[in-house]
Amino acid sequence: MPRPIQATIHTQALAHNLNQARHHAPDARVWAVVKANAYGHGIERAFAGLRGADGFALLDLAEAQRVRDLGWRGPILLLEGVFEQRDLELCSRLDLWHTVHCDQQIDMLATHKTNVPQRVFLKMNTGMNRLGFAPGQYRSAWTRLNALPQVDEISHMTHFSDADGPAGVARQMAVFDAHTADLPGERTVSNSAAVLRHSLSSDWVRPGIAVYGSAPDHPANTAAHWGLQPTMTLQAKVIAVQTLQAGDTVGYGSSYRADGSMRIGVVACGYADGYPRICPTGTPVLVDGAKSRTLGRVSMDMLSVDLSALPEAGQGSTVTLWGRAANGAVQPIDEVAAQAGTLAYELMCALAQRVPVVVE
Ligand code: PLP
Repeated sequence: MPRPIQATIHTQALAHNLNQARHHAPDARVWAVVKANAYGHGIERAFAGLRGADGFALLDLAEAQRVRDLGWRGPILLLEGVFEQRDLELCSRLDLWHTVHCDQQIDMLATHKTNVPQRVFLKMNTGMNRLGFAPGQYRSAWTRLNALPQVDEISHMTHFSDADGPAGVARQMAVFDAHTADLPGERTVSNSAAVLRHSLSSDWVRPGIAVYGSAPDHPANTAAHWGLQPTMTLQAKVIAVQTLQAGDTVGYGSSYRADGSMRIGVVACGYADGYPRICPTGTPVLVDGAKSRTLGRVSMDMLSVDLSALPEAGQGSTVTLWGRAANGAVQPIDEVAAQAGTLAYELMCALAQRVPVVVE
Protein backbone atom coordinates (compact mmCIF):
# COMPACT_ATOMS: atom_id res chain seq x y z
CA MET A 1 0.00 0.00 0.00
CA PRO A 2 1.34 3.47 -0.83
CA ARG A 3 1.45 6.03 1.97
CA PRO A 4 -1.92 7.74 2.20
CA ILE A 5 -0.90 11.09 0.80
CA GLN A 6 -1.85 12.58 -2.55
CA ALA A 7 -1.74 15.80 -4.50
CA THR A 8 -4.46 16.58 -7.00
CA ILE A 9 -4.08 18.97 -9.93
CA HIS A 10 -7.39 20.53 -10.93
CA THR A 11 -7.49 20.98 -14.69
CA GLN A 12 -10.74 22.93 -14.78
CA ALA A 13 -9.51 25.32 -12.11
CA LEU A 14 -6.43 26.07 -14.23
CA ALA A 15 -8.66 26.86 -17.20
CA HIS A 16 -10.94 28.95 -14.99
CA ASN A 17 -8.05 30.97 -13.54
CA LEU A 18 -6.59 31.56 -16.98
CA ASN A 19 -9.95 33.04 -17.95
CA GLN A 20 -9.95 35.25 -14.86
CA ALA A 21 -6.62 36.65 -15.96
CA ARG A 22 -8.00 37.22 -19.46
CA HIS A 23 -11.01 38.96 -17.98
CA HIS A 24 -8.69 41.58 -16.41
CA ALA A 25 -6.70 42.06 -19.61
CA PRO A 26 -9.29 41.41 -22.32
CA ASP A 27 -7.31 42.88 -25.18
CA ALA A 28 -4.06 41.13 -24.40
CA ARG A 29 -2.74 37.79 -25.47
CA VAL A 30 -1.78 35.63 -22.52
CA TRP A 31 1.48 33.86 -21.91
CA ALA A 32 0.69 31.21 -19.29
CA VAL A 33 3.87 31.11 -17.23
CA VAL A 34 4.82 27.45 -16.79
CA LYS A 35 8.40 27.80 -15.57
CA ALA A 36 9.57 25.73 -12.61
CA ASN A 37 7.64 22.77 -13.96
CA ALA A 38 4.43 24.82 -14.04
CA TYR A 39 4.99 26.10 -10.50
CA GLY A 40 5.34 22.54 -9.24
CA HIS A 41 2.16 21.29 -10.92
CA GLY A 42 4.02 19.45 -13.68
CA ILE A 43 4.04 20.91 -17.19
CA GLU A 44 2.33 17.88 -18.70
CA ARG A 45 -0.38 17.91 -16.03
CA ALA A 46 -0.98 21.66 -16.20
CA PHE A 47 -1.05 21.73 -19.98
CA ALA A 48 -4.50 20.14 -20.15
CA GLY A 49 -5.93 23.10 -18.24
CA LEU A 50 -3.84 25.78 -19.91
CA ARG A 51 -4.11 24.88 -23.58
CA GLY A 52 -6.38 27.91 -24.02
CA ALA A 53 -3.40 30.22 -23.48
CA ASP A 54 -1.97 32.13 -26.43
CA GLY A 55 1.54 31.08 -25.53
CA PHE A 56 3.70 29.54 -22.85
CA ALA A 57 6.46 31.40 -21.04
CA LEU A 58 9.04 29.22 -19.40
CA LEU A 59 12.61 29.02 -18.32
CA ASP A 60 14.75 26.73 -20.39
CA LEU A 61 15.07 24.59 -23.46
CA ALA A 62 14.18 21.39 -21.64
CA GLU A 63 10.83 22.84 -20.58
CA ALA A 64 10.27 24.19 -24.08
CA GLN A 65 10.93 20.74 -25.53
CA ARG A 66 8.35 19.26 -23.15
CA VAL A 67 5.71 21.75 -24.28
CA ARG A 68 6.46 21.01 -27.95
CA ASP A 69 6.28 17.28 -27.18
CA LEU A 70 2.73 17.88 -25.94
CA GLY A 71 1.86 19.00 -29.44
CA TRP A 72 1.82 22.76 -28.79
CA ARG A 73 2.59 24.59 -32.03
CA GLY A 74 1.98 28.15 -30.80
CA PRO A 75 4.37 30.69 -29.26
CA ILE A 76 6.82 29.74 -26.52
CA LEU A 77 8.93 32.38 -24.78
CA LEU A 78 12.20 31.67 -22.97
CA LEU A 79 12.08 34.11 -20.05
CA GLU A 80 15.84 34.21 -19.46
CA GLY A 81 16.84 33.71 -23.07
CA VAL A 82 19.77 31.58 -24.09
CA PHE A 83 22.88 30.86 -22.07
CA GLU A 84 25.14 29.50 -24.79
CA GLN A 85 25.58 30.02 -28.51
CA ARG A 86 24.53 26.46 -29.33
CA ASP A 87 21.17 27.05 -27.59
CA LEU A 88 20.22 29.28 -30.52
CA GLU A 89 20.22 26.31 -32.83
CA LEU A 90 17.66 24.53 -30.66
CA CYS A 91 15.69 27.76 -30.31
CA SER A 92 15.30 27.77 -34.07
CA ARG A 93 14.41 24.10 -34.21
CA LEU A 94 11.80 24.48 -31.46
CA ASP A 95 10.62 27.78 -32.94
CA LEU A 96 11.05 29.70 -29.68
CA TRP A 97 10.86 33.39 -28.90
CA HIS A 98 13.61 34.37 -26.54
CA THR A 99 14.42 37.13 -24.15
CA VAL A 100 17.54 39.20 -24.74
CA HIS A 101 18.66 40.88 -21.56
CA CYS A 102 22.44 41.35 -21.95
CA ASP A 103 25.14 42.17 -24.48
CA GLN A 104 26.47 38.62 -24.48
CA GLN A 105 23.17 37.36 -25.89
CA ILE A 106 23.35 39.94 -28.70
CA ASP A 107 26.93 38.81 -29.42
CA MET A 108 25.72 35.21 -29.68
CA LEU A 109 22.97 36.22 -32.09
CA ALA A 110 25.40 38.26 -34.19
CA THR A 111 27.59 35.22 -34.83
CA HIS A 112 24.74 32.71 -35.11
CA LYS A 113 24.57 31.07 -38.52
CA THR A 114 20.94 30.52 -39.34
CA ASN A 115 18.34 30.74 -42.04
CA VAL A 116 15.57 30.97 -39.44
CA PRO A 117 15.20 34.56 -38.25
CA GLN A 118 14.81 34.92 -34.50
CA ARG A 119 11.96 36.60 -32.61
CA VAL A 120 13.21 38.23 -29.48
CA PHE A 121 11.86 40.14 -26.50
CA LEU A 122 14.37 42.79 -25.52
CA LYS A 123 14.25 43.27 -21.77
CA MET A 124 14.59 46.57 -19.94
CA ASN A 125 15.59 46.77 -16.31
CA THR A 126 13.19 49.41 -15.03
CA GLY A 127 13.91 48.89 -11.34
CA MET A 128 13.77 45.20 -10.51
CA ASN A 129 17.55 45.05 -10.98
CA ARG A 130 17.50 41.42 -11.95
CA LEU A 131 17.67 41.05 -15.74
CA GLY A 132 17.62 43.62 -18.49
CA PHE A 133 19.36 46.56 -20.08
CA ALA A 134 19.47 49.79 -18.13
CA PRO A 135 17.03 52.31 -19.61
CA GLY A 136 19.90 54.45 -20.89
CA GLN A 137 21.41 51.50 -22.78
CA TYR A 138 18.16 50.10 -24.11
CA ARG A 139 18.09 52.03 -27.37
CA SER A 140 21.61 51.09 -28.36
CA ALA A 141 20.81 47.43 -27.59
CA TRP A 142 17.73 47.71 -29.77
CA THR A 143 19.73 49.37 -32.57
CA ARG A 144 22.33 46.60 -32.49
CA LEU A 145 19.65 43.90 -32.58
CA ASN A 146 17.70 45.66 -35.29
CA ALA A 147 20.74 45.65 -37.53
CA LEU A 148 21.19 41.87 -37.29
CA PRO A 149 19.90 39.79 -40.21
CA GLN A 150 19.46 36.96 -37.69
CA VAL A 151 16.64 38.89 -35.96
CA ASP A 152 13.34 39.67 -37.62
CA GLU A 153 11.08 40.74 -34.78
CA ILE A 154 11.95 42.73 -31.66
CA SER A 155 9.38 43.09 -28.91
CA HIS A 156 9.78 44.87 -25.59
CA MET A 157 9.61 43.55 -22.08
CA THR A 158 10.07 44.54 -18.46
CA HIS A 159 9.23 42.97 -15.09
CA PHE A 160 7.79 44.65 -12.01
CA SER A 161 9.28 44.46 -8.55
CA ASP A 162 6.30 45.83 -6.59
CA ALA A 163 3.11 45.10 -8.51
CA ASP A 164 1.79 43.24 -5.46
CA GLY A 165 2.47 46.03 -2.97
CA PRO A 166 1.73 49.67 -2.28
CA ALA A 167 4.62 50.96 -4.41
CA GLY A 168 2.81 49.60 -7.46
CA VAL A 169 3.88 49.80 -11.08
CA ALA A 170 3.68 53.48 -12.01
CA ARG A 171 7.37 54.35 -11.60
CA GLN A 172 8.66 51.38 -13.63
CA MET A 173 5.94 51.80 -16.23
CA ALA A 174 6.87 55.45 -16.75
CA VAL A 175 10.51 54.48 -17.35
CA PHE A 176 9.52 51.70 -19.75
CA ASP A 177 7.15 53.94 -21.71
CA ALA A 178 9.64 56.78 -21.92
CA HIS A 179 12.28 54.55 -23.49
CA THR A 180 10.11 52.47 -25.82
CA ALA A 181 7.41 54.92 -26.94
CA ASP A 182 8.83 55.48 -30.42
CA LEU A 183 10.14 51.95 -31.01
CA PRO A 184 8.18 49.52 -33.14
CA GLY A 185 7.23 46.12 -31.74
CA GLU A 186 4.94 44.48 -29.22
CA ARG A 187 5.14 44.89 -25.47
CA THR A 188 4.80 42.64 -22.45
CA VAL A 189 4.99 43.96 -18.92
CA SER A 190 2.42 42.43 -16.57
CA ASN A 191 2.76 39.58 -14.12
CA SER A 192 -0.30 38.37 -12.16
CA ALA A 193 -0.33 41.26 -9.70
CA ALA A 194 -0.08 43.84 -12.47
CA VAL A 195 -2.93 42.16 -14.34
CA LEU A 196 -5.28 41.71 -11.38
CA ARG A 197 -4.44 44.59 -9.09
CA HIS A 198 -3.62 47.24 -11.65
CA SER A 199 -5.55 45.94 -14.67
CA LEU A 200 -2.37 46.73 -16.53
CA SER A 201 -2.43 45.30 -20.00
CA SER A 202 -0.20 45.34 -23.07
CA ASP A 203 0.07 43.22 -26.19
CA TRP A 204 0.96 40.23 -24.04
CA VAL A 205 0.49 39.62 -20.30
CA ARG A 206 2.44 37.03 -18.29
CA PRO A 207 0.38 35.72 -15.38
CA GLY A 208 1.85 32.87 -13.37
CA ILE A 209 0.71 32.57 -9.78
CA ALA A 210 -2.86 33.72 -10.46
CA VAL A 211 -3.26 30.92 -12.96
CA TYR A 212 -2.30 28.54 -10.15
CA GLY A 213 -5.04 29.92 -7.92
CA SER A 214 -3.08 32.05 -5.48
CA ALA A 215 -3.67 35.74 -4.83
CA PRO A 216 -0.56 37.60 -5.99
CA ASP A 217 -1.17 40.25 -3.36
CA HIS A 218 -2.14 38.11 -0.38
CA PRO A 219 -2.89 39.06 2.40
CA ALA A 220 -4.21 42.37 1.05
CA ASN A 221 -6.55 40.28 -1.09
CA THR A 222 -7.48 36.62 -1.14
CA ALA A 223 -7.70 34.22 -4.03
CA ALA A 224 -11.47 34.14 -3.51
CA HIS A 225 -11.55 37.94 -3.87
CA TRP A 226 -9.98 37.58 -7.31
CA GLY A 227 -12.30 34.71 -8.22
CA LEU A 228 -9.41 32.23 -8.37
CA GLN A 229 -9.80 28.54 -7.65
CA PRO A 230 -7.22 26.18 -6.13
CA THR A 231 -5.34 24.24 -8.76
CA MET A 232 -3.33 22.03 -6.40
CA THR A 233 -4.74 20.12 -3.44
CA LEU A 234 -2.51 18.32 -0.97
CA GLN A 235 -4.26 15.74 1.19
CA ALA A 236 -3.18 12.98 3.56
CA LYS A 237 -4.91 10.63 5.96
CA VAL A 238 -4.90 10.46 9.72
CA ILE A 239 -2.83 7.33 10.37
CA ALA A 240 -2.96 7.36 14.17
CA VAL A 241 -4.97 8.99 16.94
CA GLN A 242 -3.58 9.93 20.34
CA THR A 243 -5.47 11.02 23.44
CA LEU A 244 -3.63 13.59 25.52
CA GLN A 245 -4.07 14.73 29.10
CA ALA A 246 -3.25 18.14 30.52
CA GLY A 247 0.51 18.64 30.38
CA ASP A 248 1.14 16.09 27.60
CA THR A 249 3.13 17.40 24.68
CA VAL A 250 3.16 16.81 20.92
CA GLY A 251 6.11 15.92 18.73
CA TYR A 252 9.79 16.92 18.65
CA GLY A 253 10.76 19.66 21.02
CA SER A 254 7.48 19.29 22.94
CA SER A 255 6.51 22.68 21.57
CA TYR A 256 2.76 22.11 22.08
CA ARG A 257 1.45 21.27 25.55
CA ALA A 258 -2.18 20.24 26.12
CA ASP A 259 -4.23 22.32 28.58
CA GLY A 260 -6.61 19.47 29.20
CA SER A 261 -7.79 16.24 27.73
CA MET A 262 -7.78 16.29 23.91
CA ARG A 263 -7.58 14.07 20.79
CA ILE A 264 -5.03 14.58 18.12
CA GLY A 265 -4.64 12.99 14.70
CA VAL A 266 -1.25 12.06 13.28
CA VAL A 267 -1.22 12.77 9.54
CA ALA A 268 0.92 11.10 6.84
CA CYS A 269 2.45 14.35 5.62
CA GLY A 270 5.70 15.94 6.70
CA TYR A 271 8.35 18.32 5.49
CA ALA A 272 9.79 15.63 3.22
CA ASP A 273 6.49 15.84 1.34
CA GLY A 274 6.83 19.59 0.92
CA TYR A 275 4.80 20.77 3.89
CA PRO A 276 6.89 23.53 5.51
CA ARG A 277 8.56 22.48 8.75
CA ILE A 278 8.40 26.04 9.94
CA CYS A 279 4.57 26.11 10.09
CA PRO A 280 3.74 26.72 13.74
CA THR A 281 1.00 25.25 15.92
CA GLY A 282 -2.27 26.70 14.70
CA THR A 283 -1.59 26.52 10.96
CA PRO A 284 -5.04 25.92 9.44
CA VAL A 285 -6.06 22.58 7.90
CA LEU A 286 -9.34 20.92 7.01
CA VAL A 287 -10.19 17.56 8.57
CA ASP A 288 -12.88 15.85 6.52
CA GLY A 289 -13.64 19.32 5.22
CA ALA A 290 -13.98 20.93 8.68
CA LYS A 291 -11.65 23.62 9.98
CA SER A 292 -8.91 22.56 12.35
CA ARG A 293 -5.25 23.34 13.04
CA THR A 294 -1.83 21.76 13.29
CA LEU A 295 -0.27 21.06 16.67
CA GLY A 296 3.43 20.95 17.52
CA ARG A 297 6.34 20.63 15.13
CA VAL A 298 6.09 19.19 11.65
CA SER A 299 8.28 16.08 11.36
CA MET A 300 9.85 14.62 8.25
CA ASP A 301 6.94 12.29 7.46
CA MET A 302 4.12 13.30 9.81
CA LEU A 303 2.38 16.20 11.43
CA SER A 304 -0.37 16.41 14.04
CA VAL A 305 -3.77 18.04 13.94
CA ASP A 306 -6.36 18.87 16.55
CA LEU A 307 -9.38 16.55 16.53
CA SER A 308 -10.86 17.78 19.83
CA ALA A 309 -13.78 19.59 18.26
CA LEU A 310 -14.33 16.90 15.64
CA PRO A 311 -15.72 13.81 17.36
CA GLU A 312 -16.49 12.11 14.04
CA ALA A 313 -12.91 12.42 12.85
CA GLY A 314 -10.38 9.68 13.50
CA GLN A 315 -8.07 7.22 11.84
CA GLY A 316 -8.65 7.36 8.11
CA SER A 317 -9.96 10.92 8.10
CA THR A 318 -8.77 13.02 5.19
CA VAL A 319 -6.76 16.09 6.03
CA THR A 320 -6.56 18.80 3.41
CA LEU A 321 -3.28 20.61 3.94
CA TRP A 322 -4.15 23.02 1.15
CA GLY A 323 -6.63 23.11 -1.68
CA ARG A 324 -10.16 21.77 -1.96
CA ALA A 325 -11.76 19.15 0.32
CA ALA A 326 -14.37 16.66 -0.89
CA ASN A 327 -17.19 18.79 0.58
CA GLY A 328 -16.02 21.80 -1.45
CA ALA A 329 -14.43 23.65 1.48
CA VAL A 330 -11.15 25.34 0.57
CA GLN A 331 -8.00 25.64 2.61
CA PRO A 332 -6.19 28.47 0.80
CA ILE A 333 -2.56 27.68 0.14
CA ASP A 334 -1.86 31.38 0.73
CA GLU A 335 -2.83 30.99 4.41
CA VAL A 336 -0.42 28.10 4.89
CA ALA A 337 2.34 30.01 3.10
CA ALA A 338 1.73 33.02 5.33
CA GLN A 339 2.16 30.84 8.43
CA ALA A 340 5.46 29.66 6.96
CA GLY A 341 6.55 33.23 6.26
CA THR A 342 6.65 32.57 2.53
CA LEU A 343 4.48 32.60 -0.56
CA ALA A 344 2.34 30.02 -2.29
CA TYR A 345 4.90 30.01 -5.11
CA GLU A 346 7.43 28.32 -2.85
CA LEU A 347 5.00 25.75 -1.46
CA MET A 348 3.80 24.71 -4.89
CA CYS A 349 7.34 24.44 -6.25
CA ALA A 350 8.44 22.44 -3.19
CA LEU A 351 5.86 19.67 -3.53
CA ALA A 352 8.07 16.61 -3.11
CA GLN A 353 8.69 14.04 -5.82
CA ARG A 354 7.54 11.28 -3.53
CA VAL A 355 3.98 12.62 -3.33
CA PRO A 356 1.74 10.78 -5.83
CA VAL A 357 -0.11 13.19 -8.06
CA VAL A 358 -3.46 12.69 -9.78
CA VAL A 359 -5.06 14.97 -12.34
CA GLU A 360 -8.76 15.58 -12.36
N1 PLP B 1 7.34 37.18 -15.96
C1 PLP B 1 8.56 36.94 -15.45
C2 PLP B 1 9.76 37.48 -16.14
C3 PLP B 1 8.69 36.21 -14.26
O1 PLP B 1 9.91 35.98 -13.76
C4 PLP B 1 7.52 35.73 -13.63
C5 PLP B 1 7.60 34.99 -12.37
O2 PLP B 1 8.33 35.26 -11.48
C6 PLP B 1 6.27 36.01 -14.19
C7 PLP B 1 6.22 36.73 -15.36
C8 PLP B 1 5.00 35.56 -13.54
O3 PLP B 1 4.87 36.18 -12.30
P1 PLP B 1 3.64 35.85 -11.36
O4 PLP B 1 3.75 34.39 -11.02
O5 PLP B 1 3.85 36.70 -10.16
O6 PLP B 1 2.42 36.15 -12.11
